Amino acid sequence: MDLNLDSITKAEREELERNVFFTTLEQVKAWARSNSLWPLTFGLACCAIEMMGTGASHYDQDRFGVIFRTSPRQSDCMIVSGTVTKKMAPILKRLYDQMPEPKWVIAMGSCATAGGPYVKSYAVVKGVDQIVPVDVYIPGCPPNPAALIYGINKLQEKIRYEAKTGKRVISR
Ligand code: SF4
Repeated sequence: MDLNLDSITKAEREELERNVFFTTLEQVKAWARSNSLWPLTFGLACCAIEMMGTGASHYDQDRFGVIFRTSPRQSDCMIVSGTVTKKMAPILKRLYDQMPEPKWVIAMGSCATAGGPYVKSYAVVKGVDQIVPVDVYIPGCPPNPAALIYGINKLQEKIRYEAKTGKRVISR
């Protein structure tokens, strides 16, 4: 039987619009993924304290579906918070490689973003994006938990936007 939309009442049309929607499988997957991020916490220095604070009860990041998971094989997002030294870089890369696809990276703080106050040190990597691809950069020394939550929200938006448009958002 065909549904004749011309013959339905205004109330029935409103009811239909409230209850029926069309989407794609990619968008459903992105919606689920963006609301259940399990970050691998890669705390390296002072910024890590702010990351730990974000995971505590006051900021309650569980409400976004974000649950810290300190195992690369069950994580889909790496939060690099702190100073990345050249000695630590190969370990960071190995853990990133162990994470299954799809995966994302957040560079938290000016050290992880670009070397921070130690940019001129011979021992510090000038941004974690020299080792792994970064999706979201969070400025600050250190960024507070609200800034990290904002960064996570931006990553969620990015995941959903990429699924909706089919475009890859990349940093240059
Ligand atoms: S950005 Fe500042 S607070 Fe964060 S790890 Fe570097 S020096 Fe510490």
